Amino acid sequence: MGLSNIRINQTGYSSSLPVQVAVLGAGRLTLTDTQKNVIKSLELKEPPVDEASGDRVSVVDLGILPEGEYYIETGSEKRKISVQKDPWREVTDALIKGLYFQRCGCELPEKYAGKYMHPACHTAPVIDWEDRSVKKTVLGGWHDAGDYGKYVGPGAVTVAHMLYAYLLCPKGCSNGLNIPESGNGVPDILNEARYELEWMLKTQRPDGAFYHKLTKARFAPFIMPQDDHEQEYLMPVSHCATGAACACLALAYRVYKDYDAEFADRMLASALSAQKWIDENPEFVPYVNPEGVRTGWYGDKNFTDEQFWAACELFASTGDMKYKNRAEKLFSEELNLTAYGWADVSGLGAICCLFVLKENAGDILYTQLKEKFLKECGSKAELANSSGYMTALPADRYIWGSILPIMSNAISLILYGMLTGEDRYKSVALMQWNYALGVNALDISFVTGFGENPVMHPHHRPSGSDGIDEPVPGLISGGPNKCFPYPQNRERFENVAAAKSFLDETDSADTNEIAIYWNSPAIFVGAYFSQTDTGLSF
Ligand SMILES: [Zn+2]
Repeated sequence: MGLSNIRINQTGYSSSLPVQVAVLGAGRLTLTDTQKNVIKSLELKEPPVDEASGDRVSVVDLGILPEGEYYIETGSEKRKISVQKDPWREVTDALIKGLYFQRCGCELPEKYAGKYMHPACHTAPVIDWEDRSVKKTVLGGWHDAGDYGKYVGPGAVTVAHMLYAYLLCPKGCSNGLNIPESGNGVPDILNEARYELEWMLKTQRPDGAFYHKLTKARFAPFIMPQDDHEQEYLMPVSHCATGAACACLALAYRVYKDYDAEFADRMLASALSAQKWIDENPEFVPYVNPEGVRTGWYGDKNFTDEQFWAACELFASTGDMKYKNRAEKLFSEELNLTAYGWADVSGLGAICCLFVLKENAGDILYTQLKEKFLKECGSKAELANSSGYMTALPADRYIWGSILPIMSNAISLILYGMLTGEDRYKSVALMQWNYALGVNALDISFVTGFGENPVMHPHHRPSGSDGIDEPVPGLISGGPNKCFPYPQNRERFENVAAAKSFLDETDSADTNEIAIYWNSPAIFVGAYFSQTDTGLSF
């Protein structure tokens, strides 16, 4: 069976947002309700070839439809869609709960994990790679991705995405996650993020620096986490991990202080101690894996963005002008204000300036920064508008984890609307969410457990070794990767378009791995579009 010529958001549509589908080819398209009433009938012209996918495809906006079920027909094809009041709460919750399933160092009991339950993992004492006399117990944190490593920088950006989702889209973050802390009076998204924050605090050396990561020397085979008993090490400290942790903890201080002042104070003290270490060690040394270490590198050759983000968050949390001055000095045309990933965190600093500090940030960090930010957002919208599927990614940028720039661009387009009050990019932002859930060149939902045709074989050790057919739910796949596929896949992708360079195969970490910091920008986007019942409208 081939792919459908009608690509839909497989999790449904909102009754307060436009229904957008992608249709391949030309011809008559009709929209009918379950009583066979024709709601819309359109004649579609032959669309041009979409560069990223090679498809002749166009996006059709069917407008805002009342709740109910509908059929879309074109040629001999017919596809059912559902329109609901609040269609994406479940998938957004699942994306947050996906992080619960990544928890390390604790049992995942049946009560919370269902059939994906497993005993505690990685509970043995860990050793400092450089100073083997240091041996301690560092429990907690989330497994980073398909592997069982835990990395400070990627963890920091994941938490930041969640905290800003909570701050900017609070009504979209529900409280029904069924995690151990549920019902404790703290929103569940903060409960889940705290699991990582508590771990992060344990990865700080007494001198203020943060270890880059806590991993073994090599990746585990495809075994369950509780069966992975090889020695774990605190790998050398790094500037980028220390800067990202500093920024994240300074942000978290503000978010948690009304819930738990003692915890919040610990985080701010930790952030200040991290910044002190950076000040005392001003010469940036990019992290490299020590000899013999083959786990994730997360190499980052630029430290300006981490410093910028940290300065913004420290200013917001302490009001100390020295941080404002530092952020102003670090601000330049070179910063990518719409980058929110682990390698470039400038955009997180921009969010702090634009939505927390606001006019208090002054001319450079508000007025000038805002102008540059809005311009960057405009270029993301142009990318989407020149794509057949309205995907905000150029054909030559389908990298490892292409879902990250796509979700990041959705965040930027959402923030544009929040900043300006203009709706012009909202439907473009919504198309990125639709991309993740089925309106794409593969007719696939990239979120496990959701949609008619979801990813089934993610590169994720528990999903690949638990003996259960369905993968752990609520994990988003990295998606097509034309730029850096594994050598063994390069040939398979030779004549395949960028947006189709994807394999739903367990071995394909290059296209089908999951990662905490891919879930988290999707959480932001999902939380935003789940506020439809609270006044979000077009
Ligand atoms: Zn573990």
